[in-house]
Formats: sequence, structure tokens, C-alpha cells
Amino acid sequence: MITPSSKAYVPFVSVANMMKLVHHIGLENMLRGLADEIENDFKRWELFDKTPRVASHSDVGVIELMPTSDGEAYGFKYVNGHPKNTSEGLQTVTAFGLLADVYTGYPTLLSEMTMLTALRTAATSAMAAKHLAPKGAKTMAMIGNGAQSEFQTLAMKAIIGLEAVRLYDVDPAATEKAARNLEGMGVKVTKCKSAEESMEGAEIITTCTADKQCATILTDNMIGTGVHINAIGGDCPGKTELAEAILHRSDIFVEFPPQTRVEGEIQQLSEDHPVTELWEVISGAARGRVSDKQITLFDSVGFAIEDFSALRYVREHIKGTAFYQDLDMLADPDDPRDLFGMLKRADT
Ligand code: NAD
Repeated sequence: MITPSSKAYVPFVSVANMMKLVHHIGLENMLRGLADEIENDFKRWELFDKTPRVASHSDVGVIELMPTSDGEAYGFKYVNGHPKNTSEGLQTVTAFGLLADVYTGYPTLLSEMTMLTALRTAATSAMAAKHLAPKGAKTMAMIGNGAQSEFQTLAMKAIIGLEAVRLYDVDPAATEKAARNLEGMGVKVTKCKSAEESMEGAEIITTCTADKQCATILTDNMIGTGVHINAIGGDCPGKTELAEAILHRSDIFVEFPPQTRVEGEIQQLSEDHPVTELWEVISGAARGRVSDKQITLFDSVGFAIEDFSALRYVREHIKGTAFYQDLDMLADPDDPRDLFGMLKRADT
């Protein structure tokens, strides 16, 4: 428990405090810590209550709720995806999340999750790459240089020892921004003028673009044997990044099939197309990369357990720090049945 001043106070981590926490722990340390937490939860996958996220679609975007529970704690994330937002000076993805105690049902943490989602998505990508990318991979093509891109790059550096990133975005200003942010961070950065150029010599190809349509960021002829594709951006019905032919040449790894079949690259394939669940690779029940000729594809859409792990990591790491506020968000009268009396006494 996080030493709240009353049992009814809920620790709240604001955006400002999340950023302080990241700097306090150290970005790469935190990415490694998050990847460990997520990996441990993937190892006990079968324990979790799992459901595809609940999505509310509109013409311009999607708003989603992502719940899960391990029987002791319950968590959910509220997250949106609005590709048009950037042109209006807003984030494509924003989020917040909550943890609760299953025994009492009381919330135990409320946190911003825009920053935390970028961190957990990057940690998950690098965790998957650890199991699926060619051994000793040093170079990544990073296609789509928006909000997630630096996090993706630095998680690959922290977790699998990436040394070089080749950046490409349809908007050169995004590439300039990512290159500037990655300066002095220990990764060699090359700015590229096309997706093809960004893939030269890359063992890992990350696609992280945002467009509410079935786009073809990667065509079949761009993909040689032996690479690992980390496909992040296709995460909604009608929103994909890869040509279907690539999927037929790849061994496909997913988080939770009932969600990915609707939202991921594999929405382009038949319902019975074989995929491997990432947790099975991590727990040793299935094999990841088996040959240097194989094309491995992590068809990432983002799953509730990753958010749950990230929230638990934060709850643990704010203990004893000043990086949270106690939030008065639960009515908790001394006599549990006297809620009305509590209201009456407040009128003084
Ligand atoms: P963003 O809007 O900040 O950046 C997207 C970038 O993609 C922009 O710079 C844009 O110019 C670029 N782009 C668009 N079309 C392109 C193309 N054809 N080729 C090259 N670049 C192109 O968005 P973001 O926050 O970085 O998120 C990117 C995507 O990742 C979104 O679709 C989001 O929904 C998804 N996402 C997935 C997960 C997950 O867990 N899988 C988590 C977070 C975000």
C-alpha cells in the first residue's frame, strides 16, 4: 500500500510527476524495468482475465477501454487514437489508467498514461524483438517518426543493444524532430528520404505510422529474408500498414488473437491463418525465430496486460517518492452505510 493519508485517498500520478519519475529512474532503466514486468506477466498469461478492448469508433478516430485482472489487482486504460489530431496541434494517442484492489474494489492508483503508453509500447516491442529479431541485430529502420518513434528506438537500444536507427517519415519535419531528440542518446541516426532507403542494412523494420486507412507502408518487394518486422501502427479495423503478401511470407506473432484478428495486420487474412501468441514464445511453449532466413512479424496492437504491468511498475516505484498526489476521489464515510450523513455533515 502506498501510505496514503487515509484509506480512501488514491495516489495520482500526473504527467509532470510521470516525467519526474522517468528521469529519477533513468529512461533506459525504466524501459528495461517495464519490459521485465511485462515479460513476467506474459509468463503468467493464463492467469489473467482477458478480453479484446472495447472500442467506440467514429469517422475521425477511436476511443477504447482496455481492462484486465490477475485475480488480485484489476486495471484498465482509457486510450484514444485520432490520426487527424496532429494537424490540429493535438496528440494522436492520449491515455490514463487505473489499478484497483480486487478484494475491496477500491482504486489503488490513477495515472496519466500518454507517456506511459509510449514507454510500455516501446518496452513491448523490444521484448518481442529480443525473442524474434536476428541475434545481434544492430540497425533498425524507423518508419513513422511521430510521438512513439524515439521511445521505440531507445527501448531497442536499452534491451537488445541497437546501435543505429534509420529514420523515415512522409513529413520531413517529423524526421528532423526525431533526429534532434535522439542526438547524444548513444544511437547513430541516419535521416532517409524514402522507406526503401531507411531499410538498407536494417535487421529490424519498425512501422509506426498513423493514418485511419489500410495503407501500404511496406510493399512485398521491399522485404528481404531474415528481417524482423515490428508493426506498431496498424491497430484498428481498417487501419493497416503492410501489403498482404508480406504476411504470407512471415511467421506472425501476436498478443491476444481475438483482438489482433480484428485490429492488427492479420485482419487482412482469413480467420484461421496460423499465428503464434507471443506469451507462448516467452514462456517457452512455442518457438520464436528458428532460422536466419525467416521473416518474423510482431503484429502489435497493444494489449491490456501491458498496461496493467506498466501501472503496477509505476505503483511500486512511486513508493517513498514525492511523485504522486493523494486524490480525494472515493467517498468513504466512517459508517459505510451513512453516505447521506457524510453529505449532510459537509454542509457546515
Ligand atoms: P503520430 O501521429 O505522432 O506519428 C505518426 C507519424 O506517421 C507522423 O509523423 C506521420 O507523418 C507519419 N506517417 C503517416 N503516414 C506515413 C507514411 N505513409 N509513411 C511514413 N510516415 C508516415 O502517432 P504516434 O503516437 O507515433 O503513433 C503511431 C501509430 O502507432 C498510431 O497509429 C497509433 O495508433 C499506433 N500505436 C500503437 C500502439 C501499440 O501498442 N501497437 C501504441 C501506441 C500507438
